[in-house]
Amino acid sequence: MRKSRAGKGNPDLPGRTPQGAVDKLQLSSKVSFDVLLDVVEATHGKPIAVRLVPSSTISGLSGLWLETALKSHILVPESHSELHRMHVICHEFGHILLQHEGCDGLAASMPSMFSHVGQQSGIQRMLARSPQWNDVEKAAEEVAYLLSGFVLDKPTVPGSDFERVFG
Ligand SMILES: [Zn+2]
Repeated sequence: MRKSRAGKGNPDLPGRTPQGAVDKLQLSSKVSFDVLLDVVEATHGKPIAVRLVPSSTISGLSGLWLETALKSHILVPESHSELHRMHVICHEFGHILLQHEGCDGLAASMPSMFSHVGQQSGIQRMLARSPQWNDVEKAAEEVAYLLSGFVLDKPTVPGSDFERVFG
């Protein structure tokens, strides 16, 4: 489903539309979540650590992506069901693959978040999955739906002790 849009950049650049971003991953068959993570990391050019956190840590949000020079972090509330977690992670993948800009001011509103990512400095961008559906959110959501079509029906979804750290 494509939206018509008003001006502002060219969303038809290869890789910058939801379909283009997913096509670029060249997923030809169903993959496990781990393989999907590997592919997104390769495209992103840095490791992505997925962490489950108490809902209060990112109060009011269903997911958060933040990026530092060396690494990205995706925080997901541990209270979410496995399916919901997977969807939120794929949504954050959407922001990463579409290279969305972050929004200012988020970090200051969530001081407890830093205990989960280990640092406060050097954050380049942050994007939360918020209830406000603007075009950026809709595009990330579209990527999430496209990616979910590639993830195996019985995915290995991050459990409560899930954490992957690379490099
Ligand atoms: Zn979002």
